[in-house]
Amino acid sequence: MKNPALRGRLAPSPTGLLHLGNAWAFWLAWLEVRQAGGRLVLRLEDLDPARSRAEFVAQIRRDLAWLGLDWDEEAPPQSGRGPAYEAALAALAARGLTYPCFCTRRELRSLAGAPQAGDAGAAYAGTCRLLSPERRAALAAAGRAQALRLVCPPERTWPFQDRVAGPQEMTLAECGGDFALRRSDGVFAYQLAVVVDDLEQGVTSVVRGRDLLVSTPRQLHLLELLGGRAPAYAHVPLILDHRGERLAKRHAGLSLAALREAGAGPEDVFGFLARLAGLSDRPGPRPAGELAAGFAWDRLRPEDLRLPESLAGRPAEILASRT
Ligand code: GLU
Repeated sequence: MKNPALRGRLAPSPTGLLHLGNAWAFWLAWLEVRQAGGRLVLRLEDLDPARSRAEFVAQIRRDLAWLGLDWDEEAPPQSGRGPAYEAALAALAARGLTYPCFCTRRELRSLAGAPQAGDAGAAYAGTCRLLSPERRAALAAAGRAQALRLVCPPERTWPFQDRVAGPQEMTLAECGGDFALRRSDGVFAYQLAVVVDDLEQGVTSVVRGRDLLVSTPRQLHLLELLGGRAPAYAHVPLILDHRGERLAKRHAGLSLAALREAGAGPEDVFGFLARLAGLSDRPGPRPAGELAAGFAWDRLRPEDLRLPESLAGRPAEILASRT
C-alpha cells in the first residue's frame, strides 16, 4: 500500500558488529518503507560512550551499503542530542514525574519485586520514590550516584496492536515499574532517547526485534507524557542460533562482516532469510528489493527463527545452498 507519509527508521547501536539478526530487522524496516514510498531515517544510537565505538559506526555504514539497504535522511546521532533529552527531562520534572534514585546495583537486585514479563527484568520496587527530601539531600551530599526515574502508575496498561506479535496488553509494573530516564553514570536512558528522537524525527513506524516488545508500553507512556502520537509497531522475530540462543558478540562468525569475508553475497543473505522466515519457498539469491512489491506484515510468523548448526562452520556455503 502506498503511503508517502510513512517514516521508518534504522536505529543501530554502534556497540558491536551487525549480524544476521540485524540484517533481518533492517531489511523488514527497509522493505516496508520502500513498498510504501515513504522515507527511512538512519539514526545511530550511540548513547553509551563506554560501549559505542567509531569503528563500529564505520562498519555499520559498510554493512548497510553492502546489503544495499539505503536511507533517505540521517538523523543526528544520539551522542549529540543531550540538550533535547535534558529538555524532555526538565518538562517531566516540572510536572513532578521524576525522582532521583540512589539504589546501587546490588540494592536493586535485592529490592526487586516479583520477576516480570520477558525482557523487562524484575520490577523496580519504588524504594527511592518514598525518600523524604531530607534523606535525598543527605544521600546526594554523601556523593551517592543518582539515577533519575519516571513515576509510573503501576496498573496502567498500554494495549497496542503489534503488526507481527499481535495484540499486546501489559501493565507498566509488568514492564519493570518506574524506569530510569537517566542512569546513575549520567548517561541518558534508552527509553527516553528513543522516544524523544522518534517524536522529533516524526517516526510513524517502528520495526525492531521482539526483545524490545516489553519496552513499548514504557515508550507509549512517555510518548503520551511528552505529547506525541504513537507510531505503529512491528516487533519482528529474533534470529537464534541452533541452540536457541540469541545472536550476540560470541557469534562473531555470523556477523555480516564475517559472512562477507567468507564469500557470501548480500543476495545470498536475503535469499536465505526469506526461506528461513517462510517468505519464499523458491530457492535462489534475492536482491533486497525483490520482496518489496508483495510485502505485508501478515506474511510474517511471530515465532523466532532458528539457524542451522552448519551455518557457523561453513557460512558462505550454507547461505548459498539454502537459497
Ligand atoms: N538501538 C537499538 C538496538 O540496536 C534499537 C532500538 C529501537 O529500535 O528502538 O537494539
